[in-house]
Amino acid sequence: MNGLCPLSMPVRVRKTGVMMSRCPCTSGHPLETCCGRVLADHAAATTAEQLMRSRFTAFALGDTTHLLRTWHPTTRPRTLQLDADQRWTRLDVERVVDGSPLHDTGVVEFVAHHRSPAGAGRQHETSRFRRESGRWFYLDGVAS
Ligand SMILES: [Zn+2]
Repeated sequence: MNGLCPLSMPVRVRKTGVMMSRCPCTSGHPLETCCGRVLADHAAATTAEQLMRSRFTAFALGDTTHLLRTWHPTTRPRTLQLDADQRWTRLDVERVVDGSPLHDTGVVEFVAHHRSPAGAGRQHETSRFRRESGRWFYLDGVAS
């Protein structure tokens, strides 16, 4: 929390509080100008990291449509069932290899923090991404 008491904020700000919510990917930016544009498919992710962040946000928001759409066709599951008890709380991107608009492949190493009734946990994963026809796809990942 940032320490701001919601009750001390002007009414105008409180009313738009939902629209101005921080993006779940922990970028610090509003959802609308961060992963929200990618999830809504208004803009394709330009880097592997951006796609990775948008997929974390999709996990956090339960957006299986975005997860399946951005999964490479060769590794994509037929269906996807998310654990409703698991909340994704924080993302730390630790390492990025290639994955820029000038590359066709990229690697993103990250730690995704989650919380469930059983307690808090973290998933450390190195994911591979591939860009085809100008769009980044998640290929696969190795948990460690
Ligand atoms: Zn984001």
